[in-house]
Amino acid sequence: MNWMNRFIATTLPAVPKPIVRFFSKRYIAGNTVSDAVRVVQDLAGQGCIATVDVLGEFIKNLKEADRTVNEYLKILQRLEQEKLECNISIKLTQFGLLIDQEKCYENVRKIVESVHEKNNFVRIDMEDSACTSDTIALFSRFAQEYPENVGIVIQSYLRRSMNDITTMLEEIKNLNVRICKGIYIEPREIAYKDPAIINYNYMALLEKLFSGGAYVGIATHDEKLVFHAQELIRKMNIPRNRYEFQMLLGVDQELRRSIVANGHRLRVYVPFGQKWYAYSLRRLKENPQIAGYVLRGILQQ
Ligand SMILES: Cc1cc2nc3c(=O)[nH]c(=O)nc-3n(C[C@H](O)[C@H](O)[C@H](O)COP(=O)(O)OP(=O)(O)OC[C@H]3O[C@@H](n4cnc5c(N)ncnc54)[C@H](O)[C@@H]3O)c2cc1C
Repeated sequence: MNWMNRFIATTLPAVPKPIVRFFSKRYIAGNTVSDAVRVVQDLAGQGCIATVDVLGEFIKNLKEADRTVNEYLKILQRLEQEKLECNISIKLTQFGLLIDQEKCYENVRKIVESVHEKNNFVRIDMEDSACTSDTIALFSRFAQEYPENVGIVIQSYLRRSMNDITTMLEEIKNLNVRICKGIYIEPREIAYKDPAIINYNYMALLEKLFSGGAYVGIATHDEKLVFHAQELIRKMNIPRNRYEFQMLLGVDQELRRSIVANGHRLRVYVPFGQKWYAYSLRRLKENPQIAGYVLRGILQQ
């Protein structure tokens, strides 16, 4: 499938935009706040909770960050009005992490304050390895002040992750971590490449976080990991209010239904926004494996 993935990824920009939109529809809620709210309501009807993400990353000027802050404030307001069990996920490069870290902090602070006021929660997504240390540093600043309202993501493909969570468990009260494998292409010096090791590390991180008393978002569509995580929850007797499973919108709904049927909380990651096209192409070019997923999705429709 590798050459096929690469082929689709490179030829996709030539495909007319409405066609790309048609096929990316199942992964992206739409352009507007109302589109995202409609999808979250629909998921609630299926017994799922959600997190929404305003699409965009790696901005070029800080004006773009202001627009993103406003978009997040708007959706937080709507989620509160509609009384939906839905939090938000943000990427720090959308707020200027790579341009001006203090400005980024100030931008994110506006969101964190609104989240705190509304008794909601913001998850700081993890981006590529150039952002890891700064993301953890900024998260730690917020987590000291608002431990109940802010969480972070750790990637099991990074060799550093076990050290990172060890330090976080020592320094942060009520630590809240999403574990994922990691989506970016990273060099071997810093990232495991063997899928078996990435999975082994995933489970080691999960066990460490459970033992340390953290709340964990178990983000994966890998059924083996879901199976082992459920086993660990049972063996360690972890109560339902200490973890949740998480999946991306449009991916493996059968697995999603089976997790919900087993009585676990399941949060769906719902991306939306004007930048869906640039985002889809960028992601496909960065990681041609996703193009393969899209193709399989198309064939299954
Ligand atoms: C809720 C959530 C939040 C995430 N947040 C981050 C983050 O902050 N930083 C980060 O680096 N990564 C993030 N990721 C992405 C993650 O790191 C993985 O790249 C992605 O989830 C694929 O890994 P997997 O665990 O599903 O296992 P895989 O072994 O890659 O996938 C298992 C199976 O799931 C299906 N699948 C997986 N991904 C997709 C997809 N996109 N489309 C269609 N089918 C798919 C495939 O059928 C595949 O065979 C997140 C993932 C989820 C679910």
